[in-house]
Amino acid sequence: MAYLDIPGHVQQKPKEVTLEEIQAVLGNCQRCELGQTRTKLVFGVGNPHARVMFVGEGPGKNEDLQGEPFVGAAGKKLNELLERCGLCRDDIYIANVVKCRPPANRNPKPAEIEACAPYLREQMRSIWPDAIVCLGNFATQFVMKTELGITKLRGKMYQVGHFQVVPTFHPAATIYHPDWLQDLESDLRMLADWLAAHPKGVES
Ligand code: SF4
Repeated sequence: MAYLDIPGHVQQKPKEVTLEEIQAVLGNCQRCELGQTRTKLVFGVGNPHARVMFVGEGPGKNEDLQGEPFVGAAGKKLNELLERCGLCRDDIYIANVVKCRPPANRNPKPAEIEACAPYLREQMRSIWPDAIVCLGNFATQFVMKTELGITKLRGKMYQVGHFQVVPTFHPAATIYHPDWLQDLESDLRMLADWLAAHPKGVES
């Protein structure tokens, strides 16, 4: 397993902060320009004590309308994959790098990612999962503090501070690149195997 000891990464759980407290601080956030164009802020959803946290890029059209991550075509694909790999959506937590939809699904700008970063970091500290699945380049670069792209990094698990990190393709990308679906499934199976081999509370 590769090991990255990255300065500035979330290494320690410093305090108990609940997701509700983080959401209350977030409020009707306008810290970046995405706050002016969103319909609903998409905070995140799932088990607050999840062993696995999935991190995506940002809300799409359906997520923006419903206020929940991964509810559109990408969410359906993710649910199918989770089921095939023996993972359950109720046991995971899902959030995005930016909480508001970039107009026309453009890439989030560096300033927007920086403005939104504290919320995701706090979510990671609050949930304190064993593993983080980074869906796509933006999530991977945020969590792993790397410039490397997903095609170079995927296929392996990395220890990043406290977390086992699985960089892989975003489910939405597999709609346009069906050949990536097999790689995404293979990465999730690798994670499922790791979870089975490392039961909660048992140090390896
Ligand atoms: S993207 Fe993040 S920082 Fe920007 S307005 Fe939304 S919640 Fe606030």
